[in-house]
Amino acid sequence: MTTSAPSPIPLGTRAYRGRLLSPLTPEGSRNQGAGLRFIEDALLLVTPDGRILSAGPAATTTFRGPVLDLRPAVLIPGFVDAHLHYPQTRITGSASGPLLDWLERSVFPEEARFDDPAHAAAVASDFTRRMLMAGTTTCAAYSSAHAAATDTLFEALDRAGLRAFAGLTLMDQGCPEPLRLDHREALPAMRDLIQKWHGKGEGRLQFIVTPRFALSCSRPLLEAAAQVAADHQLFVQTHLAESPAEAEAVLRACPWAIDYLDVYDRLGLLGPRSLFAHAIHLSPRAWDRLAEAGARVAHCPDSNFFLDSGRMPIDEPRRRHVPIALGSDVGAGRSFDMRRAMSHAFDSALCLGTRLTPAELFTLATLGGATALDLQGRVGSLDPGKEADFLVVRCPDHITTEEGILAQLAFASDESTIQRVYVRGAQVHPVD
Ligand SMILES: [Zn+2]
Repeated sequence: MTTSAPSPIPLGTRAYRGRLLSPLTPEGSRNQGAGLRFIEDALLLVTPDGRILSAGPAATTTFRGPVLDLRPAVLIPGFVDAHLHYPQTRITGSASGPLLDWLERSVFPEEARFDDPAHAAAVASDFTRRMLMAGTTTCAAYSSAHAAATDTLFEALDRAGLRAFAGLTLMDQGCPEPLRLDHREALPAMRDLIQKWHGKGEGRLQFIVTPRFALSCSRPLLEAAAQVAADHQLFVQTHLAESPAEAEAVLRACPWAIDYLDVYDRLGLLGPRSLFAHAIHLSPRAWDRLAEAGARVAHCPDSNFFLDSGRMPIDEPRRRHVPIALGSDVGAGRSFDMRRAMSHAFDSALCLGTRLTPAELFTLATLGGATALDLQGRVGSLDPGKEADFLVVRCPDHITTEEGILAQLAFASDESTIQRVYVRGAQVHPVD
């Protein structure tokens, strides 16, 4: 019998048997996928330190220890949710739009409640539980404007075992007084959070610099955000060109900029570690500049529909090789489930005449998200050497083909419960 494991099997290696479906990670860091791999009867071997030792056909994998037989379930990489808002967990479903009215009416009053430690803690545990139930293993989350609530969020993410980027949401204008954070207060607050959390949990947790968007931040605050990101080599996340009214208001507020993206560009917030949510109303010039800078896009089709913000022209970043992640955008998005995001991404592209395949959607929700967050060397696919972030998904046994399983994941997820969730080889859902 041959073995697919290239090296000796360490003591304590665990084995999971099931169907296996995963993107393949190509050579080179900017490519978002080199096709899929489907194995009808696979054995996934995970080392005691949480790495994938091998993922190959059960019949040709030599393993003498106990095997957890999960058939006919499917083993897939964990989902990456590259854009969502922790303090909006409890107002999910309230977003009737348009964007700027919804912020005033629903978002700011709810986010102001996060100065209450009990509220912050209760919502943080809800937030992490709902992500795990949906099979999200990596997220990029906005906190509120409160340093203490952001600390509480990191504690909850750590306790839940999730892989996460999380950031203090920066605002000093255009919002209620309790949510304002002057750049002189924001700087030490960010530095404390970075020191306490960035890189913790063996690199699972990262601080991400999070100016909410151009309208809610003064120039000194945006400059301070850029400085912190540069000093600590951090990712930056913000919103970009979500709604037409927002884009017009930004140009009125920043007449020195040629367009919305140019505001971030001139203030040092556009670069290879910039993650822009939405990116709907951009000119060809802005798309070219975004691509040239090596920035990334978080596509949030559910909230784009719900707030009636417009459709992200997905062919623009695709033809420029801009990494694209999917985001639930809870609470403007209506679900934590990235399979809903896949389905909405299909609808959104179709509105503009592009038909994404289930394989493309699945790759966006896994390896695409990992690539957009520069984690493609660690997670996003079930390749040997990567950290074992994976899901066990129920799939009816009458669905027997790769195409059938992909269609089930992307378009008919009601029947495919997320049975188990693993991050770095540790079972994080369900837990006793
Ligand atoms: Zn958002």
